[in-house]
Amino acid sequence: MSNDPKTPSRRTTTPRKTDIWGGSSLPVQIALRGFILIFALLGILGVFFYIEQMPNGASAWGEADLEEPIRLFTSEQIRALRDDPQACIAALDGSNMSYAEVEPSSPTPECRWQAGVQISTSNLDYANPEPPVASCALAAALYIWEREIVAPAAARHLDAEVAEILHYGTYNCRRENSAQAGRWSQHANANAIDISGFRLSDGRVIGVHRWDNGGEDAAFLTEVRDRSCEIFTGVLGPEYNDAHADHFHMDMGPWEICS
Ligand SMILES: [Zn+2]
Repeated sequence: MSNDPKTPSRRTTTPRKTDIWGGSSLPVQIALRGFILIFALLGILGVFFYIEQMPNGASAWGEADLEEPIRLFTSEQIRALRDDPQACIAALDGSNMSYAEVEPSSPTPECRWQAGVQISTSNLDYANPEPPVASCALAAALYIWEREIVAPAAARHLDAEVAEILHYGTYNCRRENSAQAGRWSQHANANAIDISGFRLSDGRVIGVHRWDNGGEDAAFLTEVRDRSCEIFTGVLGPEYNDAHADHFHMDMGPWEICS
């Protein structure tokens, strides 16, 4: 008698191939693919047409409301203000910032600004050493930044309110890094500000030079630097190079950099 163990019978099954075309014939598949391609192209053309036919000054991202919290398109809305001085001034007028429009005193092709404003009062004070003149888009960005980025970071890390933004100024007719040649700085268009520190309402001063002290000051400064990139196009701090060891450079220029 044989004691051979019973081998379980094996059932071979052929995996079923899934066919998104439902087994259609080749000509039908080609036609379906063609339709999908045409609809995709029409969709892309539709988006371009929508943007093109918008009235002058209207932004595809919607109008900037400086009193609103930071949302998905906030940075695009602020960027759109750079090319639209009228919309930018309207946005400032819709905020609680008080300012005076100022013309450059002796403009040159490189050193001038469009829709420059001198900030009198904002959410925070800038009076020291003097109220800065900023391009309108930079002023709009600062207004949101103070409330949405600086204030919450100070509450979180320092349990304090910020009273004043300390700065080294905005406008300066010079090239980048004060070099003799090369690209003109965003400061030449009042489109950049150098922030040296923050005076709290209890009198403490948090200087950017305390970047590396490892305490809550540093945590506050790091959060401000990191989140500033949500609003400004250019953000350079102590980690960028030694020239920025004691300040944050923030600008609304055409180049995106966050360092
Ligand atoms: Zn700078």
